[in-house]
Amino acid sequence: MKNKNIFSQKKKRSIRPNRILTLLVALTIVFGGVKVVSAATKFIQEQQAIKLEEKRKEEEAKALAEKKRKEEEEKKKYIVGCNNDAKKYSYDAKKVEEKLNSYDYSNNGEKVVFLTFDDGTSTTVTPEVLRILKENDVHATFFVTGQNIERGGDKAKELLKEELANGHAIANHSYSHDYKTLYPNKTLDLDAFKADFAKTDELLKDTLGKYFSTRVIRCPGGHMSWRGMDPLDAYLDENNMASIDWNALNKDAEGRRKNADELTQEAIKTSEGKEMVVLLMHDTYGKEETAKALPQIIKYFKDNGYEFKTLV
Ligand SMILES: [Zn+2]
Repeated sequence: MKNKNIFSQKKKRSIRPNRILTLLVALTIVFGGVKVVSAATKFIQEQQAIKLEEKRKEEEAKALAEKKRKEEEEKKKYIVGCNNDAKKYSYDAKKVEEKLNSYDYSNNGEKVVFLTFDDGTSTTVTPEVLRILKENDVHATFFVTGQNIERGGDKAKELLKEELANGHAIANHSYSHDYKTLYPNKTLDLDAFKADFAKTDELLKDTLGKYFSTRVIRCPGGHMSWRGMDPLDAYLDENNMASIDWNALNKDAEGRRKNADELTQEAIKTSEGKEMVVLLMHDTYGKEETAKALPQIIKYFKDNGYEFKTLV
């Protein structure tokens, strides 16, 4: 028994270092493995984080591009003065206003004419004017009055839509056209003036869509005719709006009634020598001769190298 015990003890003693070594090796392998595994895990996690960040940035950029696209789309809906497609025929009304105010009708050698029609739309003359403009492939600016649009009912509203669809510009010429309301004692009443013009703005939105607006106005009787206009000018400047009078006219609203030939001669006479012409005419009730004169007037400007533009 004793020997056996010694033997077995001996045997135990001889095995122990091997076990420790094995254990150490195992531990090294395990912990080494853990280290490798944890390093690998860390690497994978870092890669995933980088990928996630890249994806987040990509999505952020996508969202930003989408936001911009929507904003651009929204902007396109807004129609200021004329259809966006018709912008190629349009001209900055503010520049024209400055020119008219300084009686400077030069234009760097380039001839430009703005055909303007006031007091419409009418169901009698406006259709004829639209037809002739289309036939001659030229564009004009219509200074409309709300009261006349309402007078013409649905037909007048359809004509207004046609004006816009055909590439013409639409500007505000007040609702009532009533001098006593707008300028009592020949002096501007700004509040009454603004309220009156606002009614036409509203009517234009109702007819042409909520995105339509115009920044161009023409004062009934002409800006030049009234006193106390400084507050209006300040208001227009603040709102980036333009008031446009004229520097030529066919005299279809002055003096005795004229026939088409006489109207044409007046238009030519008052336009001569001007590189920039803002021609005043009317497409309201009773102005049939104006429509009759229009082809000859257009011909004169075409023959003399004028470009036809609209005011926006
Ligand atoms: Zn008028």
